[in-house]
Amino acid sequence: MATVESVRGPVELAQLGPTLMHEHVFVLSTEHMQNYGSDWWDEEARVADAVAKLNSLYARGIHTILDPTVWGLGRYIPRIQRIAAQTPVNIIVATGLYVYEELPQQFAYRGPGLLIDIPEPMVTDFSRDITEGIAGTGVKAAFLKFALETPEPSAGVERIARAIARTHIQTGAPITVHTSGPHQTGRIAVRIFTEEGVDLSKVVIGHAGDSNDLDYLTELADAGVLLGMDRFGLDLFNPTAERIKTIVALAARGYAASMVLSHDANCFIDYFGAAHDAARAAAAPNWHYEHISNDVLPALLAAGVTQEQIDTMMTQNPVRYLTPGGAA
Ligand SMILES: [Zn+2]
Repeated sequence: MATVESVRGPVELAQLGPTLMHEHVFVLSTEHMQNYGSDWWDEEARVADAVAKLNSLYARGIHTILDPTVWGLGRYIPRIQRIAAQTPVNIIVATGLYVYEELPQQFAYRGPGLLIDIPEPMVTDFSRDITEGIAGTGVKAAFLKFALETPEPSAGVERIARAIARTHIQTGAPITVHTSGPHQTGRIAVRIFTEEGVDLSKVVIGHAGDSNDLDYLTELADAGVLLGMDRFGLDLFNPTAERIKTIVALAARGYAASMVLSHDANCFIDYFGAAHDAARAAAAPNWHYEHISNDVLPALLAAGVTQEQIDTMMTQNPVRYLTPGGAA
């Protein structure tokens, strides 16, 4: 029986159950927290809060989340291990690099043809996270993540994209790309990945659901990638009613096997300052782990999406994406 690595170790794919494909436990800047966090970061309280939120999610029937928190979003696996030990939810973690334009200086001078002329160190680092584990924790990353946000990728972002693609080729790990709906950067991902020989069935075009452009979305799906309908509750990017209409239209055209659902939510994010909870709740009251279970799935059913199509999006597509070698 094929397995996938979670924070607690290998899980049988058949045991994953309904899965949210893009949720963060925490989004933090480590430097921000360590230097300015004394009034808003309480380690014990935050861990307990995350355990409570994940246990509540499990009670709503969601058994697995994929957490694409990589360098640039505050990945810190020992904290996630503490949480995973206290909840039945499977947490599957990622490796990769999250920047919009500028390559970190830590990669500026090392690599093929650079001052320190060595094989691409990103491939070395990402592959080690997948095959040996992350930072001595023994926890293995099960997927890759990076971002294509701007209309044209910078040289640094293109280098990251190709390092991600090559790590996928070496390890077989699937890929999630943060993309921009307005700039339709999913097309750039498909172009680069096709050039690099990536198996497109192992790619989620993250945040595709910020777009309601059916021509764009079906073009991507026809190329073979999965569409991340994965920001439910972030109404400022696309309101829930519009996101639902788009999924209903795609399901009616036979694209249920090409969509996965999620919120891109978190238990804590340090983007909004000390008063973040109130400010965030006011701005995006449905941006939490349970909006899909509570509101979105009933709305999809009411609009004619079948339970079978929902099972495809929530359970079967995640299993297919995570199955080594691609055979479901
Ligand atoms: Zn995200």
